[in-house]
Amino acid sequence: MKKYNFNAGPSILPKQAIDNTAKAVQDFNGIGLSILEISHRSKDFKAVIDEAEALFKELLDIPEGYSVLFLGGGASMQFCMIPYNFLEKKAAYLNTGVWAKKAIKEAKGFGEVVEVASSADANYTFYPKDFTIPSDADYFHFTSNNTIYGTEYRKDFDSPVPMIADMSSDILSRPVDVSKYAVIYGGAQKNIAPAGVTFVIIKNDALGKVSRYIPTMLNYQTHIDGGSMFNTPPVLPIYTAMETMRWVKEQGGVKEMERRAIERADIVYSEIDRNRLFRGTVAEEDRSRMNICFVMKDEYKELEPAFLEFATQHGMVGVKGHRSVGGFRISCYNAQSVEAVKELVKCMQEFEKQH
Ligand SMILES: *Cc1c(COP(=O)(O)O)cnc(C)c1O
Repeated sequence: MKKYNFNAGPSILPKQAIDNTAKAVQDFNGIGLSILEISHRSKDFKAVIDEAEALFKELLDIPEGYSVLFLGGGASMQFCMIPYNFLEKKAAYLNTGVWAKKAIKEAKGFGEVVEVASSADANYTFYPKDFTIPSDADYFHFTSNNTIYGTEYRKDFDSPVPMIADMSSDILSRPVDVSKYAVIYGGAQKNIAPAGVTFVIIKNDALGKVSRYIPTMLNYQTHIDGGSMFNTPPVLPIYTAMETMRWVKEQGGVKEMERRAIERADIVYSEIDRNRLFRGTVAEEDRSRMNICFVMKDEYKELEPAFLEFATQHGMVGVKGHRSVGGFRISCYNAQSVEAVKELVKCMQEFEKQH
């Protein structure tokens, strides 16, 4: 049976990127060796990392004066690298969910943290927008898409201080005004690559403002100076990232990714709102296009396991909601097809008829 992959991360990737990665694992560039067994300093791999960086810059229209890094450690490592490199006295954080909270926890180890707003009391069912960022903060940090709760803020805030965003789960799904940011980072395993590589887009002259010693591997300057090759980078995930970005470019770039994301999200949310059995879990204006969360209405709550079973039998994979929200979560990253979301909607309609 055909499988429809709605996993939240690691998650769906373009078939072309997977196929070409498989080829590179067998015989990379026709050199008679696997990409798994060559030096990261070989000219063949150097061409890969250079192209991945160039594509990132092109696709997001990244201005001069920024570096693109490919690091290990996941987005979670960035939760500590950010304050290590930027927090001298005080930082401002927006609390929009589990990942934001983890970032806040790390920052507290380095200085004062002001939580400018939080939707924790409402189980993160909306995205706070009315708040003031203190002008004496070293930076302002937010999570653009809340992978677990399914809320997303798709505009770029206006911040009086350097702005830093965790865009793990919505990077390359829409245009971003990178010039407004000091850092944009994320784990690549949601929209770009398999697990193992973290992207960091960083404004070079935003660095060098803290007085503490920064351990070499946690210092962004190390990785800028080394061109992400201070130590051995995650070679294979970087290769797939390059392939994914080639695909994004061929499809028409982030504008086209955005158009598709809107199309898919409209299909699923319309059905959630129409269907007698289901309801969405977050404020309508804050609904994520990447992670669509929904539950069964209270009077049908006991049907949730049955729907999960029904959807699974119809080839749907990864539709169970995160344990902190319950219900269902449909992840619709860049490589997700309209066909898949239509199949899901068919399942929802069929299930409604049966109950
Ligand atoms: C998945 C995710 C993370 C964690 O990424 P790791 O690479 O596993 O550390 C952080 N932030 C957001 C928004 C995520 O979706």
